[in-house]
Amino acid sequence: MGMKVIVVSGGVLSGLGKGITSSSIGCVLKARGLKVTAMKIDPYLNFDAGTLNPFEHGEVFVLDDGCEADLDLGNYERFLDTNLASDNVVTTGKVYGAVIEKERAGNFLGKTVQIIPHITNEIKSMISNVGIKAGAEVTIVELGGTVGDIESMPFLEAMRQMHAEMGHENFLFVHTTLVPVLGTLQEQKTKPTQHSVRELRAQGIQPDVIVARSEKPLEDGARRKIALFCDVPVEAVVSAPDAKSIYQVPIFLEEQGLTDYLLKRMKLDLKPDGLEDWKVFLGKVMKPKHEVKIMLVGKYMDQRDSYMSHYEAFTHAGAMLDTSVKFLRVEAESLSKADNRALLKEADGILIPGGFGVRGTEEKIDAIRFARENKVPFLGVCLGFQLANVEFARHVLGMADANSTEFDAQTAHPVVDFLPEQKGLTKKGATMRLGAQPVLVDEGSRTAELYGATEISERHRHRYEINPHYIDMIQEKGLKFTGRSPDGKRMEVAELQGHPYFIGCQFHPEFKSRPKRPAPLHLGLVKAALEFSQRRAR
Ligand code: GLN
Repeated sequence: MGMKVIVVSGGVLSGLGKGITSSSIGCVLKARGLKVTAMKIDPYLNFDAGTLNPFEHGEVFVLDDGCEADLDLGNYERFLDTNLASDNVVTTGKVYGAVIEKERAGNFLGKTVQIIPHITNEIKSMISNVGIKAGAEVTIVELGGTVGDIESMPFLEAMRQMHAEMGHENFLFVHTTLVPVLGTLQEQKTKPTQHSVRELRAQGIQPDVIVARSEKPLEDGARRKIALFCDVPVEAVVSAPDAKSIYQVPIFLEEQGLTDYLLKRMKLDLKPDGLEDWKVFLGKVMKPKHEVKIMLVGKYMDQRDSYMSHYEAFTHAGAMLDTSVKFLRVEAESLSKADNRALLKEADGILIPGGFGVRGTEEKIDAIRFARENKVPFLGVCLGFQLANVEFARHVLGMADANSTEFDAQTAHPVVDFLPEQKGLTKKGATMRLGAQPVLVDEGSRTAELYGATEISERHRHRYEINPHYIDMIQEKGLKFTGRSPDGKRMEVAELQGHPYFIGCQFHPEFKSRPKRPAPLHLGLVKAALEFSQRRAR
């Protein structure tokens, strides 16, 4: 069978949930037995997402091969239950980089190098390579940004050409738009959708499916109007109302017949849907029996997306334990304020996620101390792990000025220091210790028990590590390193003895969490938090 491509574009405005739409389309097609992969096109000039500020773009998601990607890649991996690679991310920076490299190598044989055909050819080959490499029957291509943006034009042009070359049944366009409600009549307005489809047509593209985002389900009249004005069949206008959980969206699409429509349109077999497992998982997300409160002390708390993979990992863990995880989200710098202090006492568990820069680190250390001394379940990830060691050195080993050299280069006790290979590096892009690395875990440790294994692989993104000089001192006082790199040199996991759940890890377990396979250390935290809250209630 040849390869099919489904492009998901967005109109009207950004932030419509194109990522969830793309992931959900992939999910329902996969449930019909198709081999599906997904990729993201980000029309910005950055080579990758590694240098982007989480305030603007949300979390940086890390893939097995170390690619620092847009957070939508996390959604694809979770909804498709697959592992993706750096090829699944295309940016303008990458495309131009590749073309310029070829030009410098003399590959264009004296031709004038131009957007059409050189840039568009590069885009086309990047898209088809993803499908070929994955052996996918269907490749979902999410086009970031909004149709009409100058920077997305070469991509739309490449796609217009691909549609013509591959044929109508092999190349589909799904356009996501917003249907707002205005005025006293509370009528659903379709005009913005009409305009954005007109914009798409100006690029030579006619959408096959319109996914209409709205607060409430799309009314019949609005659906018909969109079908008429945008020239798509009524059954190809799909309503995507606000969902309580993102994991409902595949079910919304399936129930409206979108999967059948796409399969017919692609001339593929209509196999019965295999969404039973997904529905069981969703049922647990929607109807939990218990509740725990996990406090997340972070740095970009105004932006929910900054810690997306953690929230999802807790959702997966909660579903497995019939528990809803309520988040107490605290901006680290305001932790000393009285009400945030009170929140610490309310928390059944505390998570300190990864991070960079000194802002808020002292307050995070306070929260870690609170968890350690009051036996509140605690998980520290990456920076959280490093700071747990700093806290321990300061308050248990009595090294009052212990710190990471990231925050105090002059400290007398650099408990956390640069990775040796990082010294002398000046470039910031893609130079951290990145991606999947093996970790050996001690038999009998809590971590081994939670993973059900002593050899694990987890994704990394850091420049600093526990300074080997302090390892014995820290362990003697009860913070045991139960996970290390295979050469034994790098500390990967620490567990505090005599505490119900106090674990730190240098890697990011949140990135590999999946609906039916929650990240083990998040699962452990929710379990411990549940026990903690039950103990407290008694
Ligand atoms: N800033 C720390 C380091 O570079 C932690 C990184 C992280 O939390 N991802 O090692």
